[in-house]
Amino acid sequence: MTIKWLYEEEVSAIKMFGRQGASAPLAQCIHASRLIGASKTLVVHGGGNTSVKTTTRDVLGREVNTIYIKASGHDLAGINIDGFTALDLDKLKELEGLNRLSDDHMLAVFNQAKLDFRSPSPSVETLMHVFLPAPYIFHTHANSVLAVTNQPNGKTQAAKVFGPNVIVLPYAMSGFELAKKAAIAARKYPDVSALVVIKHGVFTFGISAKEAYGNMIRVVNFAKASVKRSRKRVFVGRSQPFLPYSRQKLAPLLRGALISSTGETSGVILEFRTNQLIRKFLDGKDLTRYANTGPVTPDHVIWTKPKPLILPSEFDAITVRRAVEKFTVAYKRYFTKNNQRFGKTKTMREASPRVVLVPGQGLYGAGDTAENASMIADLAENWIEVITAAESIGKFSSISTRDMFDIEYWSPESAKLEVAISPPLKGRVALITGGGSGIGQATAQIFRDAGAEVVVLDVNANATRSVAEKLDGLGLVVDVTDAIAVGQAFKRVISSFGGLDIVVSNAGGAWQGEIGTVSESVLRKSFELNFFAHQTIAQNAVRVMRAQHSAGGSGGCILFNTSKQAVNPGKNFGPYGLPKAATLFLVRQYALDHGKHGIRTGGVNADRVRSGLLSDEMIAMRSKARKLSEDEYLRGNLLGREVTANDVAKAFLDLALSPSTTGAILTVDGGNIEAALR
Ligand SMILES: [Zn+2]
Repeated sequence: MTIKWLYEEEVSAIKMFGRQGASAPLAQCIHASRLIGASKTLVVHGGGNTSVKTTTRDVLGREVNTIYIKASGHDLAGINIDGFTALDLDKLKELEGLNRLSDDHMLAVFNQAKLDFRSPSPSVETLMHVFLPAPYIFHTHANSVLAVTNQPNGKTQAAKVFGPNVIVLPYAMSGFELAKKAAIAARKYPDVSALVVIKHGVFTFGISAKEAYGNMIRVVNFAKASVKRSRKRVFVGRSQPFLPYSRQKLAPLLRGALISSTGETSGVILEFRTNQLIRKFLDGKDLTRYANTGPVTPDHVIWTKPKPLILPSEFDAITVRRAVEKFTVAYKRYFTKNNQRFGKTKTMREASPRVVLVPGQGLYGAGDTAENASMIADLAENWIEVITAAESIGKFSSISTRDMFDIEYWSPESAKLEVAISPPLKGRVALITGGGSGIGQATAQIFRDAGAEVVVLDVNANATRSVAEKLDGLGLVVDVTDAIAVGQAFKRVISSFGGLDIVVSNAGGAWQGEIGTVSESVLRKSFELNFFAHQTIAQNAVRVMRAQHSAGGSGGCILFNTSKQAVNPGKNFGPYGLPKAATLFLVRQYALDHGKHGIRTGGVNADRVRSGLLSDEMIAMRSKARKLSEDEYLRGNLLGREVTANDVAKAFLDLALSPSTTGAILTVDGGNIEAALR
């Protein structure tokens, strides 16, 4: 790695962060943090941390010795001034005099030492930065350093590779005790430039940010050179056929089995990854050995769990389900056994795997949101890179199972996982057709607000893009009357999320004409969009939902926009009402035929909703024909209120959230007895 520190960039960083209120030392620390964060071989996702010791002034103008430390969970890449917490350095230094410090006390003192009570929680490795004397301290989990230290003889290896200028400490959990040991060693050898903790990572020191950064690159380069020197061929052995198409079959089965293992309490999103390095790793004949050894650095355990699930490359619903069950049983055993040491005070988190390896294919990151699934997949890729390097110079070794548990259930780490009340559709995937505008857009929005990952299908490219972007979802430009395009769209959904839970088949179009004289082509066009498209969408959904259900998961929920016309025909509205009546029938037929596959259905009968279908012009025309004002026309119902797209969206959400309701039609029209279902 080359040192990327440029004087001009340092100066502009001081200016830029200075404008945000950072002193020069803090600005230089932020600048270095960003340089480190930019390299994925040094840190990934919130990994690593940086600090600077300086002085600030309190409200009385007194000088306070201060440490700025990266806040817990923040990414070094692109970090800003608000990614750092300022702490009273002297107050924290006093802790070194203690013999013991509980985690709860440690966190309490962190809070008391905050110079601004609104600051985020500081890194769990704060005491290391406080007790070590250097003004600038940077910490990473650099891949090549881990390749050297994650060996059965890691300590000897590391001492040989890094030389006398670097302190090497055996593995110990981050926190008070490790920080004390590090400080004692640093005082004994005041000239060292770095400290390596076996099976964890490296801390580098400097009197300037530039020096500490330079030391980081130098240490990493030592490790890299050593890996390069002794590299041997790895993962020779069996070769699996690459099965690109079975992914479409496997993902919904895996997703169903994973959801089932959580007792349906939460959904799961799957992110698939594959490349040559991953394939080679998966094809190695010793896969079960090195893949079950443990994490490459302890931090990752809270996201990835200590071990991945390895699936057979030949699979069906039963084998996938059994494999997941076997994993969860083993995880529960690991939890129960280790929880004894803590007097059974810990509460088990979900027992299902977070990383799933599929020889011959690739890996899946499984998360409760698309964002987390992607992060877990990144961590898994990083894990493979490190193990590959470690195996190429020796034999990959990790921390003990005991140490894994201690870190996985360490309260300061767990704080990263704590979130406010989960929204009801977290980890669920909802697809909305006609999602680019009107009722579809409102529905996509309401499902996103309820925590679902949304897929917006619309024929209008700009509308699709803008809604999908706004909702951080997947936008697919699809004409729902094109069965091939619809099939491809469902494939994309499986590739992106692993499966599907809710479909709102909403796209429609209003055709008019007197039924005795209307042309057949108008009628057929309307049937294509207002009936056959619903049928195509529903058939595709059934295929995915059935697979999920066959592996133990809930099937899913298919909802249709049926419209009031389905039960209460309007004059000259036959071409629209007829297919809608057939679609209303679909609600019941799918409920009847596929209830056994865990598939629920529902329909929403809406009326007089301002949308693409009922445009402003149509409202003007119709209200005029009825000799009403536009407002009177729109509020012409029992409740006397205008029905909005959002009211309809809410009805779709209510149906999706009612686990024992199927085949039901919900009317959303403000009250109209003539159109009531009978
Ligand atoms: Zn660390």
